[in-house]
Amino acid sequence: CPYCALQCGTRLGHGASGTVVEPSDFPVNDGSLCQKGWTAPAVLDVPDRLRRPLLRGPDGRLAPADWDTALDTVATRLRRIRDEHGPDALAVFGGGGLTNEKAYLLGKFARLALGTSQIDYNGRFCMSSAAAAGNAAFGLDRGLPFPVADLDAADTILLAGANPAETMPPLMRHLRKADLIV
Ligand code: SF4
Repeated sequence: CPYCALQCGTRLGHGASGTVVEPSDFPVNDGSLCQKGWTAPAVLDVPDRLRRPLLRGPDGRLAPADWDTALDTVATRLRRIRDEHGPDALAVFGGGGLTNEKAYLLGKFARLALGTSQIDYNGRFCMSSAAAAGNAAFGLDRGLPFPVADLDAADTILLAGANPAETMPPLMRHLRKADLIV
């Protein structure tokens, strides 16, 4: 699932109504999804989904373009900005939904292709306060440094400032397996 950090495993397929999703056999979500996961494929089939590049012409209007033209335009403009203002005039902003491999490639693209030191990702805003609190309390800034399925065997689970029943419903399966009073 592309949405939240629980990263439930899903499979996409084709049904009579378009793209359909089903939970995959994955230890994190153990056959379940929340409402966001179940409805994730809805955006794939909407008629106005952007499926090809658009370039803004001299008249200010966006018009369809082929990929080579669009990519050449982006590369030319990035080079021009770098030549005129230096590499740090370019910045790259990734997201927590990237796979490890994509995050690695984005870092290489920023540092080697663009030459910029300006790279960050959306988790900075999301997690920096949690990392600071983890460091202050435990000397460690990791939120969950073990497989989520390990919760099944826990004797004690402390939830502070979190309500996974609201925000990550599939996680509740693991808490229930732990036979705790939640
Ligand atoms: S909890 Fe919901 S939004 Fe998060 S990964 Fe699982 S299905 Fe997606």
